[in-house]
Amino acid sequence: MSGPASGKFAACSVMRVPGILGLNLRNLVPLRRGTRHTLELCLSEQSGFLHRPHQVDECDSSDFERQRRLTTVSDVCAWLQQQFPVELAEGWDNTGLLLGRRTSAVDRMLTCLTLTSEVAEEAVRESCQMVITHHPVLFRPVQQITDQTNEGRTLLRLIESGVSVYSPHTSFDSAADGINQSLAQSIGLTQIRPLQASDQSPDTGAGRYGELEPPQSLEEVLERVAGVTSTNWLKVARSGQSPVRRIAIGCGAAEGFLRDAERLGCDCFVTGEARFHTVLAARSAGIHLILTGHYSSERPAVVRLAERLSESFPGTECFASQAERNPIDLFQL
Ligand SMILES: [Zn+2]
Repeated sequence: MSGPASGKFAACSVMRVPGILGLNLRNLVPLRRGTRHTLELCLSEQSGFLHRPHQVDECDSSDFERQRRLTTVSDVCAWLQQQFPVELAEGWDNTGLLLGRRTSAVDRMLTCLTLTSEVAEEAVRESCQMVITHHPVLFRPVQQITDQTNEGRTLLRLIESGVSVYSPHTSFDSAADGINQSLAQSIGLTQIRPLQASDQSPDTGAGRYGELEPPQSLEEVLERVAGVTSTNWLKVARSGQSPVRRIAIGCGAAEGFLRDAERLGCDCFVTGEARFHTVLAARSAGIHLILTGHYSSERPAVVRLAERLSESFPGTECFASQAERNPIDLFQL
């Protein structure tokens, strides 16, 4: 490393480094394929990042164009909509880009289950320009966004800090590689299918069910479920001694799928939460019911989503919120 902080530096390798939004991109020189270039651009003194100028041989201009172009909110939205098509979202839901400017640049992203005020503070503190939250903000219509409500204060903080917000919610639930599919796979099910297939394709739709091969005892299934969800407790309603062969999955508050689990011959149903009378209905139907808690059933997929975003946008950093916690604890006597 040498030279003044405001010197000239090579472009190609620099462009892969996150956190360079302060670069003056107007100094970039267009590349021509098959030619030799020395690429230079200026770094601001504040960036603290020094890099030796170097020559680039036989550079493919399309590669360079990809590297040169900063990731924008619009790019991330396009990827999310491809993975979790908006057509899969329930009619009552509020999904997609809910806050933000599509042309804004993004080099740090945060995923979370719920965009609480703590998570919003974390996003601002960590200099994130985009939050992907599973549960939507602005879920109910509002007529004011002011500092008089908790949601208003959180949204104002995000707006003032230039943070965009996207929520895939029920399209993430029902996607081919969505939350329910992910939990079904991590439990080790085979022949996984939706509990309610969508009109789009047989691979998409609400909930999942699949086979456990070979069949296992309920205790073995509980061990598996505890191992793949973010929890140190499970609630269980046993329904006899029969081994488990077919398991239904409904992440979050999905007790309504009990009827589908029964219709499809499942002998165990794993979901986040359920009311007392649903628990009794499961026992009457001869179905073991495992309740992981809403948070624990969905949080692992949020962590996985951050990994997938990092892989898909290598010039950015994406991580799952460290501030959010399961809000429910067990008080043990
Ligand atoms: Zn949920």
